[in-house]
Amino acid sequence: MADFKVTELSPDTDFEHLDYWDVVIIGAGPGGLAASLTTAHRGLTTLVIEGTDKPGGQPQFLYADKKIVDIPGFPDGISGEDLSERTFRQAMNAYVQFRFQEEMVTVEDTEQTVKGDGLKQVVTNKDRYLCRKVIMACGLLHHPRKLPVLDTLNSKRVHYKVPRVSDYRSDRVAIVGGGDSALDAAVMVLQRGGQVDVLVREETPIGKASTVNLVTELGGRLHTGTEVSAARLDGDSIVLELTHGSPVSVDTVIVQIGFLSAKDTFDRLGIRLNTDGSIAVDPYFETSRAGIFAVGDVHGDIKLITVAWAEGIQAAIYAFKEITSPYWLNEKRLRDYKLALIGEKVSRAAAARPRE
Ligand SMILES: Cc1cc2nc3c(=O)[nH]c(=O)nc-3n(C[C@H](O)[C@H](O)[C@H](O)COP(=O)(O)OP(=O)(O)OC[C@H]3O[C@@H](n4cnc5c(N)ncnc54)[C@H](O)[C@@H]3O)c2cc1C
Repeated sequence: MADFKVTELSPDTDFEHLDYWDVVIIGAGPGGLAASLTTAHRGLTTLVIEGTDKPGGQPQFLYADKKIVDIPGFPDGISGEDLSERTFRQAMNAYVQFRFQEEMVTVEDTEQTVKGDGLKQVVTNKDRYLCRKVIMACGLLHHPRKLPVLDTLNSKRVHYKVPRVSDYRSDRVAIVGGGDSALDAAVMVLQRGGQVDVLVREETPIGKASTVNLVTELGGRLHTGTEVSAARLDGDSIVLELTHGSPVSVDTVIVQIGFLSAKDTFDRLGIRLNTDGSIAVDPYFETSRAGIFAVGDVHGDIKLITVAWAEGIQAAIYAFKEITSPYWLNEKRLRDYKLALIGEKVSRAAAARPRE
């Protein structure tokens, strides 16, 4: 049986007229979705705010068609799209509420309290939400970097995220970028019989060498040490002029040259950051601001779906413990500290004992 006793949420819960939300989660990627269904299963009113128009995070907006092979329980792999859809459905079944195409701007402290717990106010570009706990699960990647020379074309055939297979009708594709996302996109197109030109600014692509090899083995053409200097439409084709090498004529361009940093958002939150710009958290995934947790890619060294899931679930449970029994975390920290002190004394005593 579960280790908790709650009033379950139901379709009759009046989510539109709550005085405050128990938990507001920023980001509907793997971390946010896992956290949300965990809090909702424990009867906490849960709102997820997502900047894009779909749930799923990177598996949805970066590699919807890629077969993910490292999720336990899916021996034949599962696509990013399918995995995202399943996790979202699970959250919906638990009565998690969602706001799409809405971006968190900052989180403010308020004077209002509930059971001694200070309420927070999540400010988005559209609204404000009072809540008891916040879980940041917004990943490190925000908006894809644009290539101005291509933007002037104003063409629907220039993509900044890997399009679904059904979205590109043609088979001549230029991929701009030499990182893992670009190379993964090249492999995906090549495996579907497309022709690919990969345009890489560096002399050597920075992505995995094994994927570079796979691209060439599958017949992809790699142009290194070159950049797109100009672009024009020519009938149904897009012609790309390169700083080095002959022009390339294609039907579709996929640009994968990285993302604008999430640092600005983190700075606005006024929380402690690690030296690499990620969010610093304690062993309970709480940030330097009490009541604000952070999970998944926003802080972790190991960037994987399953890790984001596990952290989302743990943070959700800590948030639940704090809400149902205020100061639970501080008491736990104190207990852990005392245990550590005892452990230290025992090992010091053992080290000082003369050997027989
Ligand atoms: C090319 C590529 C392939 C990968 N392949 C695998 C793989 O095979 N297996 C694996 O386990 N992992 C893989 N990963 C890593 C995995 O996708 C990430 O570790 C995982 O998605 C992290 O989940 P997350 O919830 O922390 O963040 P994300 O997936 O980044 O989700 C964050 C969400 O928050 C939203 N958001 C951001 N800012 C705001 C804001 N201010 N307001 C509202 N919403 C916001 C974003 O739109 C996004 O939907 C891959 C990554 C890449 C780039």
